[in-house]
Amino acid sequence: MSPHAELVSRLRAAWLSGKTRPMEYRLAQLEGLGRFLDEKKQDILEATAADMRKSRPARRLCADLCEDNHPGVATQLYPQRWPQLPPVCPQPPFEVEVSELSICRSELNHTLNNLGAWMKDKHVEKNWATQLDSAFIRKDPYGVVLIIGPWNYPINLLLVPLIGAIAAGNCVVMKPSEITRNVERLVAEMLPRYLDEDCFAVVTAGVEETTRLLENKFDYIFFTGSPSVGRIVMTAAAKHLTPVTLELGGKNPCYVCDSCNVQNMARRVAWGRFFNAGQTCVAPDYVLCSAEMQEKLLPALREAITEFYGPNPQESPDFGRIVGDRQFQRVQALLHSGHTAIGGQTDAEERYIAPTVLVEVQQDDPIMQEEIFGPILPILTVASVDDAIAFINARERPLVLYVFSSRKEVVKRVLERTSSGGFCANDTIMHMTIPSLPFGGIGQSGLGRYHGRSSFETFSHQRSTLLRGAGRETLNTPRYPPYAPHRLPLLRAATETKRQTTCLLL
Ligand code: NAD
Repeated sequence: MSPHAELVSRLRAAWLSGKTRPMEYRLAQLEGLGRFLDEKKQDILEATAADMRKSRPARRLCADLCEDNHPGVATQLYPQRWPQLPPVCPQPPFEVEVSELSICRSELNHTLNNLGAWMKDKHVEKNWATQLDSAFIRKDPYGVVLIIGPWNYPINLLLVPLIGAIAAGNCVVMKPSEITRNVERLVAEMLPRYLDEDCFAVVTAGVEETTRLLENKFDYIFFTGSPSVGRIVMTAAAKHLTPVTLELGGKNPCYVCDSCNVQNMARRVAWGRFFNAGQTCVAPDYVLCSAEMQEKLLPALREAITEFYGPNPQESPDFGRIVGDRQFQRVQALLHSGHTAIGGQTDAEERYIAPTVLVEVQQDDPIMQEEIFGPILPILTVASVDDAIAFINARERPLVLYVFSSRKEVVKRVLERTSSGGFCANDTIMHMTIPSLPFGGIGQSGLGRYHGRSSFETFSHQRSTLLRGAGRETLNTPRYPPYAPHRLPLLRAATETKRQTTCLLL
Protein backbone atom coordinates (compact mmCIF):
# COMPACT_ATOMS: atom_id res chain seq x y z
CA MET A 1 0.00 0.00 0.00
CA SER A 2 1.31 3.45 -0.92
CA PRO A 3 2.43 5.60 2.01
CA HIS A 4 -0.06 8.40 2.66
CA ALA A 5 -2.90 6.27 1.26
CA GLU A 6 -4.51 6.43 4.68
CA LEU A 7 -4.14 10.22 4.76
CA VAL A 8 -5.70 10.59 1.32
CA SER A 9 -8.65 8.35 2.22
CA ARG A 10 -9.15 10.23 5.52
CA LEU A 11 -9.30 13.52 3.60
CA ARG A 12 -11.60 11.99 1.00
CA ALA A 13 -13.99 10.84 3.74
CA ALA A 14 -13.98 14.39 5.17
CA TRP A 15 -14.71 15.80 1.71
CA LEU A 16 -17.52 13.32 1.12
CA SER A 17 -19.08 14.37 4.43
CA GLY A 18 -19.76 17.72 2.73
CA LYS A 19 -18.18 19.85 5.46
CA THR A 20 -16.00 21.89 3.06
CA ARG A 21 -18.94 22.96 0.90
CA PRO A 22 -20.66 25.77 2.85
CA MET A 23 -19.32 29.23 2.18
CA GLU A 24 -19.00 29.91 5.93
CA TYR A 25 -16.61 26.95 6.29
CA ARG A 26 -14.44 28.14 3.39
CA LEU A 27 -14.34 31.69 4.75
CA ALA A 28 -13.36 30.41 8.21
CA GLN A 29 -10.46 28.39 6.76
CA LEU A 30 -9.30 31.36 4.70
CA GLU A 31 -9.42 33.57 7.80
CA GLY A 32 -7.33 30.90 9.56
CA LEU A 33 -4.79 31.10 6.78
CA GLY A 34 -4.75 34.89 7.20
CA ARG A 35 -4.03 34.46 10.92
CA PHE A 36 -1.16 32.12 10.07
CA LEU A 37 0.33 34.83 7.83
CA ASP A 38 -0.08 37.51 10.49
CA GLU A 39 0.95 35.60 13.57
CA LYS A 40 3.78 33.64 11.98
CA LYS A 41 5.20 36.49 9.93
CA GLN A 42 8.37 36.60 11.99
CA ASP A 43 8.80 32.82 11.76
CA ILE A 44 8.36 33.04 7.99
CA LEU A 45 11.05 35.74 7.78
CA GLU A 46 13.38 33.65 9.94
CA ALA A 47 12.78 30.47 7.96
CA THR A 48 13.30 32.09 4.56
CA ALA A 49 16.45 33.75 5.90
CA ALA A 50 17.72 30.45 7.26
CA ASP A 51 17.13 28.76 3.91
CA MET A 52 19.39 31.32 2.23
CA ARG A 53 22.05 31.16 4.94
CA LYS A 54 25.68 31.77 4.11
CA SER A 55 29.15 31.32 5.61
CA ARG A 56 29.76 32.65 9.11
CA PRO A 57 31.85 35.81 8.40
CA ALA A 58 29.59 36.85 5.58
CA ARG A 59 26.56 36.24 7.75
CA ARG A 60 27.91 38.53 10.46
CA LEU A 61 28.76 41.25 7.94
CA CYS A 62 25.41 40.94 6.29
CA ALA A 63 23.48 40.91 9.54
CA ASP A 64 25.25 44.15 10.54
CA LEU A 65 24.42 45.70 7.20
CA CYS A 66 20.84 44.57 7.52
CA GLU A 67 20.61 46.20 10.91
CA ASP A 68 21.71 49.45 9.27
CA ASN A 69 19.28 49.18 6.42
CA HIS A 70 16.36 47.51 8.11
CA PRO A 71 16.57 48.59 11.77
CA GLY A 72 15.23 45.94 14.09
CA VAL A 73 14.72 43.30 11.44
CA ALA A 74 18.16 41.70 11.35
CA THR A 75 18.44 41.33 15.10
CA GLN A 76 15.00 39.78 15.21
CA LEU A 77 16.09 37.42 12.50
CA TYR A 78 18.72 35.88 14.72
CA PRO A 79 17.45 32.40 15.31
CA GLN A 80 15.79 32.39 18.71
CA ARG A 81 13.39 29.77 17.40
CA TRP A 82 15.93 27.89 15.27
CA PRO A 83 18.70 27.35 17.81
CA GLN A 84 20.34 24.59 15.82
CA LEU A 85 21.24 27.10 13.11
CA PRO A 86 24.08 29.60 13.45
CA PRO A 87 23.22 33.32 12.96
CA VAL A 88 21.87 33.87 9.49
CA CYS A 89 21.87 36.52 6.85
CA PRO A 90 18.33 37.02 5.60
CA GLN A 91 17.18 36.66 2.10
CA PRO A 92 16.44 40.38 1.70
CA PRO A 93 13.48 40.79 4.10
CA PHE A 94 12.02 43.48 1.85
CA GLU A 95 11.86 40.95 -0.99
CA VAL A 96 10.25 38.35 1.28
CA GLU A 97 7.65 40.90 2.37
CA VAL A 98 6.84 41.85 -1.22
CA SER A 99 6.97 38.48 -2.94
CA GLU A 100 5.79 36.11 -0.23
CA LEU A 101 3.69 37.88 2.40
CA SER A 102 2.14 40.78 0.55
CA ILE A 103 1.13 38.72 -2.50
CA CYS A 104 -0.46 36.03 -0.28
CA ARG A 105 -2.33 38.67 1.73
CA SER A 106 -3.55 40.38 -1.40
CA GLU A 107 -4.72 37.11 -2.92
CA LEU A 108 -6.46 36.19 0.31
CA ASN A 109 -8.27 39.52 0.58
CA HIS A 110 -9.30 39.40 -3.07
CA THR A 111 -10.74 35.92 -2.49
CA LEU A 112 -12.51 36.86 0.76
CA ASN A 113 -14.00 39.91 -0.98
CA ASN A 114 -15.32 37.96 -3.95
CA LEU A 115 -16.00 34.39 -2.87
CA GLY A 116 -19.75 34.92 -2.48
CA ALA A 117 -20.07 36.11 -6.08
CA TRP A 118 -17.75 33.42 -7.48
CA MET A 119 -19.67 30.59 -5.79
CA LYS A 120 -23.02 31.59 -7.31
CA ASP A 121 -24.50 29.25 -9.89
CA LYS A 122 -24.12 30.64 -13.38
CA HIS A 123 -27.43 30.48 -15.21
CA VAL A 124 -27.13 29.90 -18.95
CA GLU A 125 -29.20 30.48 -22.06
CA LYS A 126 -31.75 27.76 -22.76
CA ASN A 127 -33.35 26.28 -25.84
CA TRP A 128 -37.14 26.14 -26.34
CA ALA A 129 -37.40 22.64 -25.02
CA THR A 130 -36.03 23.67 -21.63
CA GLN A 131 -37.55 27.15 -21.29
CA LEU A 132 -39.53 26.17 -18.22
CA ASP A 133 -36.53 24.53 -16.54
CA SER A 134 -33.47 25.72 -14.73
CA ALA A 135 -30.05 25.32 -16.44
CA PHE A 136 -26.89 26.45 -14.72
CA ILE A 137 -23.23 25.76 -14.03
CA ARG A 138 -22.54 24.72 -10.46
CA LYS A 139 -18.96 25.41 -9.28
CA ASP A 140 -18.30 22.09 -7.62
CA PRO A 141 -15.17 21.25 -5.62
CA TYR A 142 -13.02 18.52 -7.18
CA GLY A 143 -12.46 16.64 -3.93
CA VAL A 144 -8.97 15.91 -2.60
CA VAL A 145 -6.31 17.95 -4.35
CA LEU A 146 -2.53 17.79 -4.19
CA ILE A 147 -0.43 20.97 -4.34
CA ILE A 148 3.30 20.54 -4.96
CA GLY A 149 5.45 23.65 -4.48
CA PRO A 150 8.96 24.70 -5.54
CA TRP A 151 11.67 26.33 -3.40
CA ASN A 152 12.10 29.77 -4.99
CA TYR A 153 9.08 31.44 -3.33
CA PRO A 154 8.18 28.61 -0.99
CA ILE A 155 5.37 30.39 0.88
CA ASN A 156 3.71 32.21 -2.02
CA LEU A 157 3.78 29.25 -4.41
CA LEU A 158 2.24 26.91 -1.86
CA LEU A 159 -0.29 29.25 -0.23
CA VAL A 160 -1.62 31.12 -3.27
CA PRO A 161 -2.81 27.85 -4.87
CA LEU A 162 -4.04 26.74 -1.43
CA ILE A 163 -6.26 29.85 -1.22
CA GLY A 164 -7.92 28.85 -4.50
CA ALA A 165 -8.31 25.23 -3.42
CA ILE A 166 -9.92 26.17 -0.09
CA ALA A 167 -12.14 28.78 -1.75
CA ALA A 168 -13.42 26.14 -4.15
CA GLY A 169 -14.31 23.77 -1.28
CA ASN A 170 -11.64 21.10 -1.62
CA CYS A 171 -9.60 19.10 0.87
CA VAL A 172 -5.88 19.59 0.28
CA VAL A 173 -2.59 17.75 0.66
CA MET A 174 0.32 20.21 0.42
CA LYS A 175 3.84 19.10 -0.50
CA PRO A 176 6.33 21.96 -0.02
CA SER A 177 9.82 21.80 -1.51
CA GLU A 178 12.33 19.87 0.55
CA ILE A 179 15.10 22.23 -0.62
CA THR A 180 13.92 25.15 1.51
CA ARG A 181 13.82 22.89 4.55
CA ASN A 182 13.19 25.58 7.16
CA VAL A 183 10.09 26.83 5.37
CA GLU A 184 9.08 23.21 4.80
CA ARG A 185 9.29 22.52 8.53
CA LEU A 186 7.53 25.75 9.47
CA VAL A 187 4.63 24.99 7.14
CA ALA A 188 4.42 21.36 8.28
CA GLU A 189 4.48 22.21 11.98
CA MET A 190 2.51 25.45 12.15
CA LEU A 191 0.10 25.76 9.24
CA PRO A 192 -2.11 22.76 10.17
CA ARG A 193 -2.82 24.43 13.54
CA TYR A 194 -4.65 27.21 11.69
CA LEU A 195 -6.71 24.94 9.45
CA ASP A 196 -9.17 22.09 9.91
CA GLU A 197 -6.85 19.08 10.20
CA ASP A 198 -9.59 16.75 8.96
CA CYS A 199 -9.36 18.44 5.58
CA PHE A 200 -5.89 19.96 5.17
CA ALA A 201 -2.53 18.25 5.59
CA VAL A 202 1.11 18.93 4.84
CA VAL A 203 3.35 16.11 3.68
CA THR A 204 7.12 16.58 3.81
CA ALA A 205 8.79 14.54 1.11
CA GLY A 206 11.85 14.36 -1.10
CA VAL A 207 11.84 13.01 -4.64
CA GLU A 208 11.44 9.35 -3.74
CA GLU A 209 8.59 9.87 -1.30
CA THR A 210 6.85 12.34 -3.63
CA THR A 211 6.98 9.66 -6.31
CA ARG A 212 5.13 7.33 -3.92
CA LEU A 213 2.73 10.10 -2.90
CA LEU A 214 1.82 10.56 -6.57
CA GLU A 215 0.75 6.91 -6.77
CA ASN A 216 -2.37 7.88 -4.83
CA LYS A 217 -5.49 8.93 -6.65
CA PHE A 218 -6.06 12.65 -6.26
CA ASP A 219 -8.95 14.53 -7.83
CA TYR A 220 -6.72 17.41 -8.97
CA ILE A 221 -2.98 18.03 -8.94
CA PHE A 222 -1.52 21.54 -8.96
CA PHE A 223 2.23 21.50 -9.60
CA THR A 224 4.73 24.36 -9.70
CA GLY A 225 8.28 23.54 -10.72
CA SER A 226 10.49 22.62 -13.64
CA PRO A 227 9.19 21.30 -16.99
CA SER A 228 11.06 18.00 -16.52
CA VAL A 229 9.37 17.24 -13.19
CA GLY A 230 6.11 18.59 -14.63
CA ARG A 231 6.22 15.74 -17.14
CA ILE A 232 6.73 13.21 -14.34
CA VAL A 233 3.77 14.64 -12.42
CA MET A 234 1.55 14.63 -15.51
CA THR A 235 2.50 11.01 -16.25
CA ALA A 236 1.60 9.98 -12.70
CA ALA A 237 -1.68 11.92 -12.94
CA ALA A 238 -2.54 10.27 -16.26
CA LYS A 239 -2.62 6.89 -14.56
CA HIS A 240 -5.71 8.02 -12.65
CA LEU A 241 -6.93 10.45 -15.34
CA THR A 242 -6.44 13.21 -12.79
CA PRO A 243 -6.59 16.76 -14.21
CA VAL A 244 -3.52 18.91 -13.62
CA THR A 245 -2.32 22.46 -13.59
CA LEU A 246 1.39 22.74 -14.37
CA GLU A 247 3.06 26.04 -13.54
CA LEU A 248 6.46 25.60 -15.16
CA GLY A 249 9.48 27.67 -16.12
CA GLY A 250 11.50 28.49 -19.20
CA LYS A 251 13.30 31.35 -20.89
CA ASN A 252 11.42 34.65 -20.87
CA PRO A 253 12.52 36.96 -23.68
CA CYS A 254 12.74 40.70 -23.24
CA TYR A 255 12.73 42.67 -26.48
CA VAL A 256 14.03 46.23 -26.17
CA CYS A 257 13.13 48.51 -29.07
CA ASP A 258 15.42 51.35 -30.15
CA SER A 259 12.90 53.92 -29.02
CA CYS A 260 12.47 53.61 -25.29
CA ASN A 261 13.58 55.35 -22.14
CA VAL A 262 16.85 53.48 -21.59
CA GLN A 263 17.38 54.46 -17.93
CA ASN A 264 13.88 53.43 -16.88
CA MET A 265 14.06 50.25 -18.91
CA ALA A 266 17.46 49.32 -17.39
CA ARG A 267 16.16 49.76 -13.83
CA ARG A 268 12.99 47.76 -14.50
CA VAL A 269 14.88 44.93 -16.21
CA ALA A 270 17.64 44.87 -13.57
CA TRP A 271 15.04 44.75 -10.80
CA GLY A 272 13.16 41.86 -12.47
CA ARG A 273 16.35 39.94 -13.28
CA PHE A 274 18.19 40.35 -9.96
CA PHE A 275 15.25 40.14 -7.52
CA ASN A 276 15.81 37.05 -5.35
CA ALA A 277 19.20 36.67 -7.10
CA GLY A 278 17.43 35.86 -10.35
CA GLN A 279 15.59 32.82 -8.96
CA THR A 280 12.20 33.91 -10.29
CA CYS A 281 10.15 32.07 -12.89
CA VAL A 282 8.96 35.36 -14.47
CA ALA A 283 12.39 37.04 -14.50
CA PRO A 284 13.47 38.35 -17.91
CA ASP A 285 15.84 35.58 -19.00
CA TYR A 286 17.57 37.33 -21.90
CA VAL A 287 17.45 40.65 -23.74
CA LEU A 288 17.04 41.02 -27.49
CA CYS A 289 17.97 44.43 -28.91
CA SER A 290 19.88 46.12 -31.70
CA ALA A 291 23.67 46.57 -31.47
CA GLU A 292 23.10 50.35 -31.07
CA MET A 293 20.69 49.82 -28.20
CA GLN A 294 23.15 47.42 -26.52
CA GLU A 295 25.72 50.25 -26.45
CA LYS A 296 23.26 52.50 -24.60
CA LEU A 297 21.95 49.73 -22.42
CA LEU A 298 25.24 48.59 -20.86
CA PRO A 299 26.05 51.85 -19.02
CA ALA A 300 22.41 52.18 -17.98
CA LEU A 301 22.39 48.63 -16.56
CA ARG A 302 25.71 49.25 -14.79
CA GLU A 303 24.27 52.41 -13.25
CA ALA A 304 21.06 50.62 -12.17
CA ILE A 305 23.01 47.76 -10.54
CA THR A 306 25.24 50.19 -8.62
CA GLU A 307 22.24 52.27 -7.60
CA PHE A 308 20.45 49.16 -6.30
CA TYR A 309 23.29 47.22 -4.67
CA GLY A 310 26.19 49.68 -4.23
CA PRO A 311 29.70 49.28 -5.65
CA ASN A 312 30.03 45.73 -4.25
CA PRO A 313 26.73 43.81 -4.42
CA GLN A 314 28.23 41.08 -2.22
CA GLU A 315 27.99 43.49 0.68
CA SER A 316 24.46 44.59 -0.10
CA PRO A 317 21.75 43.34 2.27
CA ASP A 318 19.34 43.67 -0.64
CA PHE A 319 20.97 41.13 -2.93
CA GLY A 320 20.18 37.45 -2.33
CA ARG A 321 22.13 34.23 -2.69
CA ILE A 322 21.73 31.03 -4.69
CA VAL A 323 19.65 28.52 -2.75
CA GLY A 324 22.02 25.52 -2.72
CA ASP A 325 25.44 24.28 -3.80
CA ARG A 326 24.09 22.21 -6.69
CA GLN A 327 22.14 25.19 -8.04
CA PHE A 328 25.22 27.43 -7.53
CA GLN A 329 27.44 25.10 -9.61
CA ARG A 330 24.86 25.00 -12.39
CA VAL A 331 24.41 28.80 -12.59
CA GLN A 332 28.16 29.47 -12.25
CA ALA A 333 28.86 27.23 -15.25
CA LEU A 334 26.58 29.44 -17.38
CA LEU A 335 28.93 32.40 -16.84
CA HIS A 336 31.26 30.95 -19.48
CA SER A 337 28.94 31.91 -22.33
CA GLY A 338 29.79 35.03 -24.35
CA HIS A 339 31.76 37.89 -22.81
CA THR A 340 31.21 39.37 -19.34
CA ALA A 341 30.31 43.05 -19.64
CA ILE A 342 29.19 43.63 -16.03
CA GLY A 343 29.78 41.57 -12.86
CA GLY A 344 30.85 37.95 -13.17
CA GLN A 345 32.33 37.60 -9.65
CA THR A 346 31.43 34.52 -7.62
CA ASP A 347 32.04 33.20 -4.10
CA ALA A 348 31.21 29.52 -3.71
CA GLU A 349 31.34 29.56 0.08
CA GLU A 350 28.57 32.16 0.16
CA ARG A 351 26.86 30.89 -2.99
CA TYR A 352 27.20 34.44 -4.28
CA ILE A 353 27.04 35.29 -7.96
CA ALA A 354 27.28 39.00 -8.76
CA PRO A 355 24.60 40.67 -10.89
CA THR A 356 26.05 39.89 -14.29
CA VAL A 357 25.44 41.01 -17.86
CA LEU A 358 26.85 38.98 -20.74
CA VAL A 359 27.29 40.20 -24.32
CA GLU A 360 28.35 38.52 -27.58
CA VAL A 361 26.22 35.54 -26.59
CA GLN A 362 25.44 33.08 -29.38
CA GLN A 363 22.18 31.21 -29.81
CA ASP A 364 23.91 27.86 -29.28
CA ASP A 365 25.79 28.89 -26.10
CA PRO A 366 24.91 26.84 -22.99
CA ILE A 367 23.22 29.85 -21.39
CA MET A 368 20.65 29.90 -24.21
CA GLN A 369 19.83 26.19 -23.81
CA GLU A 370 18.22 26.29 -20.35
CA GLU A 371 16.37 28.59 -17.97
CA ILE A 372 19.09 30.61 -16.19
CA PHE A 373 17.36 30.95 -12.79
CA GLY A 374 20.23 33.04 -11.44
CA PRO A 375 21.51 36.66 -11.58
CA ILE A 376 22.83 36.60 -15.14
CA LEU A 377 21.39 38.59 -18.05
CA PRO A 378 22.64 37.74 -21.54
CA ILE A 379 22.09 40.25 -24.34
CA LEU A 380 21.68 39.03 -27.90
CA THR A 381 21.53 41.45 -30.81
CA VAL A 382 18.84 41.38 -33.48
CA ALA A 383 18.41 43.60 -36.52
CA SER A 384 14.73 44.50 -36.14
CA VAL A 385 11.51 43.85 -34.31
CA ASP A 386 10.65 41.20 -36.92
CA ASP A 387 13.97 39.44 -36.23
CA ALA A 388 13.15 39.47 -32.52
CA ILE A 389 9.71 38.01 -33.25
CA ALA A 390 11.24 35.28 -35.43
CA PHE A 391 13.81 34.49 -32.70
CA ILE A 392 11.08 34.19 -30.07
CA ASN A 393 8.76 32.11 -32.27
CA ALA A 394 11.57 29.67 -33.10
CA ARG A 395 11.74 28.66 -29.41
CA GLU A 396 9.47 27.12 -26.79
CA ARG A 397 6.61 29.38 -25.77
CA PRO A 398 7.67 31.28 -22.66
CA LEU A 399 5.89 31.94 -19.37
CA VAL A 400 6.00 35.67 -20.07
CA LEU A 401 7.22 37.95 -22.82
CA TYR A 402 8.51 41.45 -22.10
CA VAL A 403 8.67 44.34 -24.56
CA PHE A 404 10.11 47.78 -23.94
CA SER A 405 9.11 50.44 -26.44
CA SER A 406 7.64 53.90 -26.44
CA ARG A 407 6.02 53.06 -29.79
CA LYS A 408 2.58 51.52 -29.34
CA GLU A 409 2.70 49.89 -32.77
CA VAL A 410 5.85 47.94 -31.80
CA VAL A 411 4.22 46.65 -28.59
CA LYS A 412 1.08 45.74 -30.55
CA ARG A 413 3.09 43.96 -33.25
CA VAL A 414 4.95 41.78 -30.76
CA LEU A 415 1.73 41.05 -28.82
CA GLU A 416 -0.11 40.01 -31.99
CA ARG A 417 2.65 37.96 -33.61
CA THR A 418 3.90 35.89 -30.66
CA SER A 419 2.51 33.52 -28.04
CA SER A 420 3.39 33.28 -24.33
CA GLY A 421 1.75 32.60 -20.97
CA GLY A 422 1.65 36.31 -20.11
CA PHE A 423 2.76 39.58 -21.66
CA CYS A 424 4.00 42.77 -20.06
CA ALA A 425 5.06 45.95 -21.84
CA ASN A 426 7.51 48.45 -20.37
CA ASP A 427 8.02 46.64 -17.09
CA THR A 428 8.88 43.25 -15.62
CA ILE A 429 7.02 41.02 -13.13
CA MET A 430 4.35 43.67 -12.36
CA HIS A 431 1.67 41.85 -14.36
CA MET A 432 1.52 39.18 -11.69
CA THR A 433 0.64 41.62 -8.92
CA ILE A 434 -2.91 41.92 -10.32
CA PRO A 435 -5.01 39.05 -8.92
CA SER A 436 -7.64 39.47 -11.62
CA LEU A 437 -5.12 38.66 -14.38
CA PRO A 438 -4.91 34.86 -14.86
CA PHE A 439 -1.35 33.62 -14.39
CA GLY A 440 0.03 30.57 -16.17
CA GLY A 441 2.12 29.23 -19.00
CA ILE A 442 1.50 27.78 -22.43
CA GLY A 443 3.21 24.81 -24.08
CA GLN A 444 6.54 24.11 -22.38
CA SER A 445 5.94 26.83 -19.76
CA GLY A 446 2.82 25.23 -18.37
CA LEU A 447 -0.79 24.22 -18.52
CA GLY A 448 -3.68 26.01 -16.82
CA ARG A 449 -3.87 29.27 -14.92
CA TYR A 450 -4.54 30.66 -11.46
CA HIS A 451 -4.63 33.78 -9.26
CA GLY A 452 -7.86 35.39 -8.08
CA ARG A 453 -10.98 34.11 -9.78
CA SER A 454 -8.88 31.89 -12.04
CA SER A 455 -7.64 29.99 -8.97
CA PHE A 456 -11.21 29.46 -7.81
CA GLU A 457 -12.19 28.25 -11.28
CA THR A 458 -9.12 26.02 -11.59
CA PHE A 459 -10.03 24.17 -8.41
CA SER A 460 -13.75 24.00 -9.30
CA HIS A 461 -15.38 21.51 -11.60
CA GLN A 462 -17.92 23.26 -13.79
CA ARG A 463 -20.84 20.94 -13.26
CA SER A 464 -23.49 21.33 -15.94
CA THR A 465 -26.85 21.12 -14.25
CA LEU A 466 -30.37 20.94 -15.62
CA LEU A 467 -33.29 20.86 -13.21
CA ARG A 468 -36.44 19.78 -15.03
CA GLY A 469 -39.97 19.50 -13.78
CA ALA A 470 -41.35 15.97 -13.55
CA GLY A 471 -44.67 16.79 -15.34
CA ARG A 472 -45.72 18.26 -18.74
CA GLU A 473 -44.99 14.94 -20.40
CA THR A 474 -46.87 15.78 -23.62
CA LEU A 475 -44.14 18.31 -24.43
CA ASN A 476 -41.64 15.44 -24.50
CA THR A 477 -43.63 13.13 -26.73
CA PRO A 478 -42.13 14.32 -30.08
CA ARG A 479 -38.72 12.87 -29.20
CA TYR A 480 -39.87 9.37 -28.26
CA PRO A 481 -40.12 6.30 -30.51
CA PRO A 482 -41.86 5.21 -32.53
CA TYR A 483 -40.30 8.13 -34.42
CA ALA A 484 -42.65 10.14 -36.58
CA PRO A 485 -40.84 12.11 -39.33
CA HIS A 486 -43.43 14.89 -39.26
CA ARG A 487 -42.36 15.67 -35.68
CA LEU A 488 -38.74 16.25 -36.65
CA PRO A 489 -39.12 19.97 -37.56
CA LEU A 490 -40.81 20.59 -34.23
CA LEU A 491 -38.04 18.80 -32.35
CA ARG A 492 -35.39 20.71 -34.28
CA ALA A 493 -37.05 24.02 -33.55
CA ALA A 494 -37.16 23.16 -29.87
CA THR A 495 -33.51 22.09 -29.50
CA GLU A 496 -31.34 23.47 -32.32
CA THR A 497 -29.34 26.68 -32.00
CA LYS A 498 -29.84 28.94 -35.00
CA ARG A 499 -27.06 30.97 -36.65
CA GLN A 500 -27.62 34.61 -35.78
CA THR A 501 -28.16 36.91 -38.73
CA THR A 502 -26.58 40.33 -38.81
CA CYS A 503 -28.96 43.20 -39.47
CA LEU A 504 -27.39 45.24 -42.26
CA LEU A 505 -29.48 48.29 -41.43
CA LEU A 506 -27.82 48.72 -38.00
P1 NAD B 1 11.50 21.12 -9.26
O1 NAD B 1 10.69 20.72 -10.44
O2 NAD B 1 12.84 20.53 -9.11
O3 NAD B 1 10.71 20.78 -7.90
C1 NAD B 1 9.39 21.20 -7.67
C2 NAD B 1 8.71 20.25 -6.70
O4 NAD B 1 8.68 18.95 -7.29
C3 NAD B 1 9.42 20.09 -5.36
O5 NAD B 1 8.46 20.07 -4.34
C4 NAD B 1 10.12 18.77 -5.46
O6 NAD B 1 10.20 18.09 -4.24
C5 NAD B 1 9.23 17.98 -6.41
N1 NAD B 1 9.95 17.01 -7.20
C6 NAD B 1 11.22 17.12 -7.67
N2 NAD B 1 11.54 16.03 -8.40
C7 NAD B 1 10.46 15.23 -8.38
C8 NAD B 1 10.18 13.96 -8.95
N3 NAD B 1 11.06 13.30 -9.68
N4 NAD B 1 8.95 13.43 -8.75
C9 NAD B 1 8.03 14.09 -8.02
N5 NAD B 1 8.26 15.29 -7.46
C10 NAD B 1 9.46 15.85 -7.63
O7 NAD B 1 11.54 22.71 -9.31
P2 NAD B 1 12.31 23.69 -8.35
O8 NAD B 1 13.78 23.54 -8.59
O9 NAD B 1 11.80 23.56 -6.97
O10 NAD B 1 11.82 25.10 -8.90
C11 NAD B 1 12.42 25.73 -9.99
C12 NAD B 1 11.60 25.57 -11.25
O11 NAD B 1 10.25 25.92 -10.98
C13 NAD B 1 12.04 26.51 -12.35
O12 NAD B 1 11.98 25.85 -13.59
C14 NAD B 1 11.03 27.63 -12.30
O13 NAD B 1 10.88 28.35 -13.49
C15 NAD B 1 9.80 26.88 -11.95
N6 NAD B 1 8.83 27.77 -11.33
C16 NAD B 1 7.69 28.06 -12.02
C17 NAD B 1 6.78 28.94 -11.47
C18 NAD B 1 5.51 29.29 -12.18
O14 NAD B 1 4.65 29.88 -11.54
N7 NAD B 1 5.34 28.98 -13.44
C19 NAD B 1 7.03 29.51 -10.23
C20 NAD B 1 8.21 29.18 -9.58
C21 NAD B 1 9.10 28.30 -10.13
